[in-house]
Amino acid sequence: MLRKYEVLLIADEVVCGFGRVGTPFGSHLYDIRPDLITIAKGLTSAYLPLSGVIVGERVWEVIERGSEELGPMGHGWTYSGHPLGAAAALANLDILEREKLTENACDTGSYLQEQFTKSFEPHPLVGEVRGVGLLVALEFVQEKSKKLRFDSNWKVGAKVSSACLEQNLIARAMPNGDILGFAPPLSITRTEVDDIIKRTAKALNSVTDLLAKEYSWKG
Ligand SMILES: *Cc1c(COP(=O)(O)O)cnc(C)c1O
Repeated sequence: MLRKYEVLLIADEVVCGFGRVGTPFGSHLYDIRPDLITIAKGLTSAYLPLSGVIVGERVWEVIERGSEELGPMGHGWTYSGHPLGAAAALANLDILEREKLTENACDTGSYLQEQFTKSFEPHPLVGEVRGVGLLVALEFVQEKSKKLRFDSNWKVGAKVSSACLEQNLIARAMPNGDILGFAPPLSITRTEVDDIIKRTAKALNSVTDLLAKEYSWKG
């Protein structure tokens, strides 16, 4: 359909690129062929800041042809293509390959998804468990059977995030709802997944008690 109407497709792979979802890119997983791919986080694993755009043939050809006719397209910035960032990315991508971290994100990732689903789908706070590879999220609801959202003033997502932090577990409260995201290191083991499950369970139970006390919430 996009091809038919000559619409370009941009895939934002800033978070899901470089193995996170168990395939090299999210585009592989869903078999989509974007014209442009934005990349950042996993490119250097944040050891140094670096981001980029992968430009597909169709867009590249136009830029190339235009350069011959009109001169080069100005798209440089002061620190574009900094060698230190590029060296960090190459070293990081070597580790990714050598330690087979994409394969681990696929294998340990499916274990993570199974364990999250098994452990948290039945929990009264949880309306949905969703994710793929080493990216998983919990969405919290006021009423499980109807998937009714919590009053946003209760800040349930932020409360669970703080309760996780008390268990020395970092999980990210998303700004657009009572959603908690987990993106563990690509090198994680199954034993460490079990540990995340235990700590998360403690956090969920403590927030359940807190909501019962503060708002007489019964689930
Ligand atoms: C982190 C993130 C961004 C933001 O990237 P910046 O380099 O900070 O602009 C964009 N998209 C996705 C999917 C992200 O995870």
